[in-house]
Amino acid sequence: YADAAMYAAKKSGRNSYVFYQQDMTSGTERRAKMDERLRLALANGSLHLAYQPKVDVLTGVVTGVEALIRWQDEELGVVTPDELIPFAEDSNLILPLGDWVLKTACQFSAKWEHENGKPLPIAVNISAMQLSHRGFIDSVRQVLEDTGLNPRRLELELTESTLVKDPKYAQEVMFQLRDIGVSISIDDFGTGYSNLAQLRRFPIDRLKIDKSFMSEAVVNEQDAAIVKSVIALAQILNLQVTTEGIETEEQLEFVRSLKGQEYQGYYYSKALEADDLRDLLVEKLQSMDLTA
Ligand code: C2E
Ligand code: MG
Ligand code: MG
Ligand code: MG
Repeated sequence: YADAAMYAAKKSGRNSYVFYQQDMTSGTERRAKMDERLRLALANGSLHLAYQPKVDVLTGVVTGVEALIRWQDEELGVVTPDELIPFAEDSNLILPLGDWVLKTACQFSAKWEHENGKPLPIAVNISAMQLSHRGFIDSVRQVLEDTGLNPRRLELELTESTLVKDPKYAQEVMFQLRDIGVSISIDDFGTGYSNLAQLRRFPIDRLKIDKSFMSEAVVNEQDAAIVKSVIALAQILNLQVTTEGIETEEQLEFVRSLKGQEYQGYYYSKALEADDLRDLLVEKLQSMDLTA
């Protein structure tokens, strides 16, 4: 991916300077190593995406997938997204990384639809720094054009903090995204500080209820009440709703009883490699025509 490689090369001199100024404590050493290895990975491709199915609560049909970054580096071992993404945000690598994720995810969905004659809508996580970058809208347009993906198949997941930081700018960008035809979700909903009344000012299509509420919703009345009220709120505001972190039949029953529309979680499937996703969909959805 040439753009990312160029970007990484251009930045590398400047950032390594920052690291050599600091003590080489083990944490700092790992970060310096990560900086070096991530630039390399962006240039030569040891990053990849896994895809977690999103499932219709009532029918059990897969409605799409969420793209999640995976990185296993020869020297660092597995670097989880919870380590990688904040690191990339701190080291100016989130833009090339985010571009790579967006492009790879759109390519995947476009290819799937082309091969199977059926859409596989894709959701992509977007960091606040990407959204606030002035070139973001153009890069979304460009990726859609380059991959030929129908904009209706693309959903961008933002977090509440993205809206809170610079609400006016976020609002403007979100309206432009809506004009392009992509949809917008608020990820990890309930963990941030967004003002419910203000939510209505943003062109949001979906709320994704954070998995932390689901983990005890079946036994903890307060968590249950939060899940209940977010689903009710979504209905009132005419938004779609996805419940994350469904691990058991009991949790799925709970969400079903509340008329939640969509869920994600280990109960159906973890995030899968592309080939394993294909196998799962073939096995679970016999009716799908996978003649590619
Ligand atoms: P997220 O977007 O909220 O993604 C859901 C996370 O929950 C994923 O973790 C997924 O593997 C995990 N998960 C799914 N179902 C279950 C379940 O039933 N139980 C439990 N305990 N966990 C479940 P993952 O892949 O480690 O990603 C963590 C976070 O890192 C993501 O949270 C997202 O905020 C961020 N992330 C991942 N990939 C990207 C990316 O490409 N770009 C950006 N900006 N952020 C990303
Ligand atoms: Mg997400
Ligand atoms: Mg989430
Ligand atoms: Mg998250």
